[in-house]
Amino acid sequence: MKMSDQASPAPKETSALWLQRHRSHDVPWLLQCWQDLARNIPGLTVGSLLKIGEFEVPYFRRSPAPNRPHLYVSAGIHGDEPAASLGLLWWAEESLLNCPCAVTLLPCLNPWGISQNSRYDAYGTDLNRCFDDPRQPLIGAWDRFVDRDRYDVTLCLHEDYDAVGAYCYELPGSDPGVAASIFADGWGDLPLDMRPEIDGMVAHGGVISPRSNLPTTELPEALRLFGRHTPLSLTFETPSEFGLYERAKAQRDFIRGVIQHLSGKSA
Ligand SMILES: [Zn+2]
Repeated sequence: MKMSDQASPAPKETSALWLQRHRSHDVPWLLQCWQDLARNIPGLTVGSLLKIGEFEVPYFRRSPAPNRPHLYVSAGIHGDEPAASLGLLWWAEESLLNCPCAVTLLPCLNPWGISQNSRYDAYGTDLNRCFDDPRQPLIGAWDRFVDRDRYDVTLCLHEDYDAVGAYCYELPGSDPGVAASIFADGWGDLPLDMRPEIDGMVAHGGVISPRSNLPTTELPEALRLFGRHTPLSLTFETPSEFGLYERAKAQRDFIRGVIQHLSGKSA
């Protein structure tokens, strides 16, 4: 199936038609969409971090170049957060070809979890609490892969069952932060999570910028990346109880916002 014929969400599609064409827990379908897409992007390197069970863990990379900021985006470490993988695919279908940034994309970090609609891997492990443990095969392979680069921004895409709107973790906190400027700049249809406390942390306008008491063990991906591989680590979350179409669209729009931020900085 050519993705451009069957899967690409054209701008005027209705949400129902878009959803009919997307199979968020069908990993072979997701990987085929990425392979089809990659064939049409000059200079995009395609590879695999490792194979876990029947699934490859793919990466897509367009090399850094002078004056071209480097963006890292990952999705799917939690397999029960489908809008993350779909939103990244949606963004890539529309915008990767003409993206002004170097990119490293890891769209399917836990393929078994995605296939089973599970937060965990096949052994019941929450991989996003293991990024300081290279004995985990995925984390060891990821460590070797990311070690080659520095990224101007890293963006980890997630969803949250407790959220009442979209929100973002931003490290380090700055004023005004990147997430706050994206949310202020004509943010789309999905409401922001405006609670003063989210996930036990102080939040302002849908942005959490933890400044202290960061965990030092059982690290999530975003914390492992921060400082070591990037000066700016973002984790974007959409609320799982909202419609899948709106959540995927919000994920796509947030990636767009980050690209705009990076483009503005390099202009
Ligand atoms: Zn998650």
